[in-house]
Amino acid sequence: MRLCRFNENRLGVVEGDVVKDVTMALEVLPSFRYPLPGHDMMIAGLEAVRHRITTLLPGAPSVPLASVRLLSPVANPGKLVAAPVNYQKHLDEVKVDAAIHANNPGHTITIQSAGLFLKATSSLTGQDTGIGVCKLERRTDHEVELAVVIGRRGRNISRDEALSYVAGYAVGLDVTIRGSEDRSFRKSPDTYSVLGPWLVTADEIPDPGVLDLELSVNGEGRQKSNTRYLILGVPELIELASSFYTLYPGDVIFTGTPEGVSPIQPGDEVVATIERVGSLRVRVHAAEVAHAADAGTVAARS
Ligand code: MN
Repeated sequence: MRLCRFNENRLGVVEGDVVKDVTMALEVLPSFRYPLPGHDMMIAGLEAVRHRITTLLPGAPSVPLASVRLLSPVANPGKLVAAPVNYQKHLDEVKVDAAIHANNPGHTITIQSAGLFLKATSSLTGQDTGIGVCKLERRTDHEVELAVVIGRRGRNISRDEALSYVAGYAVGLDVTIRGSEDRSFRKSPDTYSVLGPWLVTADEIPDPGVLDLELSVNGEGRQKSNTRYLILGVPELIELASSFYTLYPGDVIFTGTPEGVSPIQPGDEVVATIERVGSLRVRVHAAEVAHAADAGTVAARS
């Protein structure tokens, strides 16, 4: 099932080129008072939501997919975990390019030495807000990554059990300002974590380790690889992350980017595709424009 969040927080099922509006399924979720849970309530209740969706779908109103504004399929993740240098050929390109490694020795070590890092949850956005470049004088890069959405709480999860903790998958963009600062700082401005175009539930992807992924900018191919080349695959990343943090429903793991990273600038259109997941189509703006779009004062989709 392909689940999207669209327009004013509506819930949809994507079928071909239409979206079936199943927002009423959210009524199965419990209501909360302050303080709210620190995890995503829809993902925590996904089983009940999906059960209600199956009864709603036959009578659900349809809208054209091209007419909706897609938001991040996960609204309130508790954390965004990310893997650095998790494809060997990306590590190779980082090592030889000072514009990428910025003379920070921490940028050229292996993932086994570097561990994982966190991106601010406030950086999360869906495809139709667009990427708002906030430091126009610096190099800002695209990084296409398979994104894993955790479905249930777990700690010290073994790699053998790991995939049973996955709710689904999405295309992720880990937008990055190159430079000497810590990764979490350079990768956490608003809109620098793009997730979408929707969530594909885990039952549709039995093996996340065999997926082609690619990214183009203005129609020109930049990144092309397959998740079989991940140094730490999805089960190993869940094992590693959960050995440091309890994982909660809605937590997102950005699994790392393959080779071919390159700069983006306002006016660009980035298309990132992952096999069996879908294509994320994102426009790049200067930050002020993206913020205006966020507030609904500028049409983000032409
Ligand atoms: Mn990355």
